[in-house]
Amino acid sequence: MIQQIKSWLEDATVDIFIGYRDVDGHAVPHGYTADRLEELGNWTVGTHRYPLETFALHLARIHPEATIGLLGRDCNQRALNVLSVWNQLHADRIRVLSLSCCPSALKTRADCSYLVPRKSGSFKHQVGVDAEMEAAELEALPSGERWARWAYEFQKCIKCYGCRDICPVCFCAECSLESDELVGTGKLPPEVPIFHLVRATHMAGRCVDCGLCEEACPADIPLRLLYRKVNAIVEDLFGYQTGSDTAQPPLSVLGDRVELEPLPMEKTG
Ligand code: SF4
Ligand code: SF4
Ligand code: SF4
Repeated sequence: MIQQIKSWLEDATVDIFIGYRDVDGHAVPHGYTADRLEELGNWTVGTHRYPLETFALHLARIHPEATIGLLGRDCNQRALNVLSVWNQLHADRIRVLSLSCCPSALKTRADCSYLVPRKSGSFKHQVGVDAEMEAAELEALPSGERWARWAYEFQKCIKCYGCRDICPVCFCAECSLESDELVGTGKLPPEVPIFHLVRATHMAGRCVDCGLCEEACPADIPLRLLYRKVNAIVEDLFGYQTGSDTAQPPLSVLGDRVELEPLPMEKTG
């Protein structure tokens, strides 16, 4: 992998490569350039996950002509597809070096979190929404109970914006979650359920189920379940699987769907 990155930088396949570097035993995101190849050194990625595509997005906004390489697991690739179809990144300026995904049988299209199963008798399981619950299990409950359980979860929110800030597909220059008209300032928790429903609505056809928001949430709110639901609706209505390819998402266009070339992806050995 290191050799591949080096070769891309040396032959100018990419202007910068976003990977990791070791800082006190921790892998932290780092941008490598051809004039600082010695920094490549030896580092391992392990199971660390960062939305490296967000770094690519910021770089592309500052240097639109740059070609950017980055490491990508399956969830990163799905997010890159979404960023491409939403015209945030140019596919021809992105090169992805594919990483093997999570070390478990969880590697399906959507599942790649490291969540620890909870006991079914826990308080949260009885009154709230447990991240381990299946959507079908939740939907089998009476609507009043479903609402009460989600309200229990939402009222724990401390409006830290961690879910939005870590999200690779939250790329808006102005975020509705900071709009006074939608989400009043100075209130904790944010008005239930507006804050969460605004974000859920925006994740329809965008969320790539990477799970980073849920991992970041200090209030342990099962955000993935919510966003899976909105994406399931999009899939049911439009047959669109978010992040699966670079076809135009149904909620972003008024005219005909436009088929784009898939983003190039190199495989490591
Ligand atoms: S799982 Fe969360 S962080 Fe990942 S794309 Fe969906 S909303 Fe964003
Ligand atoms: S929450 Fe909605 S408005 Fe805010 S950055 Fe994400 S998609 Fe954009
Ligand atoms: S990360 Fe959790 S607590 Fe923070 S704003 Fe998002 S849902 Fe609320």
